[in-house]
Amino acid sequence: MTRTPVLRRVKHSTARVFLVLLLFALAACDRQTETTHETDRLTFQAFGTLVDITLYPAGKHDLARIEAELSADLENMHASWHAWEPGSLGRTNQLLAMGGEFSAPPSVLPLIEYGQELEALTDGLFNPALGRLIAAWGFHQSEAAGPPPDPDAVRALINDPPRMADIERSGARLRGRHPELQLDFGGLAKGFAVARSLDLLAELGVEHAIVNAGGDLMTRGQPGARAWRIGVRHPRGAGVLAGIELGSGEALFTSGDYERGYEWDGQRIHHVIDPRTGWPSQGLAAATVLHADPALADAAATTLMIAGPEDWPGLARRLGVDHALVVLPDGSVELTPGMAARVKFQDDVPHRIRHAQTGNGPGDE
Ligand code: ADP
Ligand code: MG
Repeated sequence: MTRTPVLRRVKHSTARVFLVLLLFALAACDRQTETTHETDRLTFQAFGTLVDITLYPAGKHDLARIEAELSADLENMHASWHAWEPGSLGRTNQLLAMGGEFSAPPSVLPLIEYGQELEALTDGLFNPALGRLIAAWGFHQSEAAGPPPDPDAVRALINDPPRMADIERSGARLRGRHPELQLDFGGLAKGFAVARSLDLLAELGVEHAIVNAGGDLMTRGQPGARAWRIGVRHPRGAGVLAGIELGSGEALFTSGDYERGYEWDGQRIHHVIDPRTGWPSQGLAAATVLHADPALADAAATTLMIAGPEDWPGLARRLGVDHALVVLPDGSVELTPGMAARVKFQDDVPHRIRHAQTGNGPGDE
């Protein structure tokens, strides 16, 4: 994928790579990074999740200042981009619902612009204009809850669905051309937030760090002569699925069916919605993407979940993602050749390489 103007704006002083990983217990994280005695740690709540910053070397940083600046910045972004609480995106959604042309708050423009590119690139599998559908499934409240929407209501929402392309844009002036269009950047915003946090750390003089926001993370620099050692959480249970070493400027983001959701009639209703069916995506338990661009890694992980077990390699390829790993419902793993060269699995994890060109064909290993 070519670099977009949007992503250029989310600048980093180091080359960027994203990885998708899942949550760690902090103790496990200490063990995985194996740098506890040499690093400082900061953990605090922000952006609706537990943020965990690792700083190398220990004893060199003004921790109170770093925590204050980062948490303030993250809370600002959270308020600006929140899908259902009042803020810049909430205001934008109100204005979109009214029809007519308006000036959008500047903080939402990069997400709109990138959302439009991603929708086009994924043939609408990634579609942040489906806020009404996400809300209908009970995800626009702090505790996601049923009942699920009526099947007729779902069909009505995806029959002629709003698209990002329905937003006409001229500079900061916007006009929505679909009455049902409501923006939800839940699949993308954390990537932007992590990118911005890394920038801020650089501005504060931090050269070596990991920013981990609820299991989605990005590195800057490295701990001495070594790589950062990270564990990818198993989507079923507390254990680690695989280990991976990250260099500088790599982001690892995961999307999973266990992250946000509820049980209804014995079924797991989770928050990644397939725009083709209007229902929670099926066939994959989790998808993890490693890339230099955190916003792309975030959106790509969500998109691979939606693409499902047949199509995920093709979508990864279209998105310019060389390093991806998906977990099937039976706990087995499929991964790209690039990712296979990077991860070390726990002994008992069945896995196979998938090639984008060949799909399920004989080229697979
Ligand atoms: P997490 O926020 O837990 O890391 P994801 O990155 O997978 O999870 O994003 C899930 C979020 O993406 C949902 O809560 C919703 O806001 C948004 N979303 C769900 N389905 C889609 C879709 N088809 N296209 C774009 N965004 C989506
Ligand atoms: Mg995502």
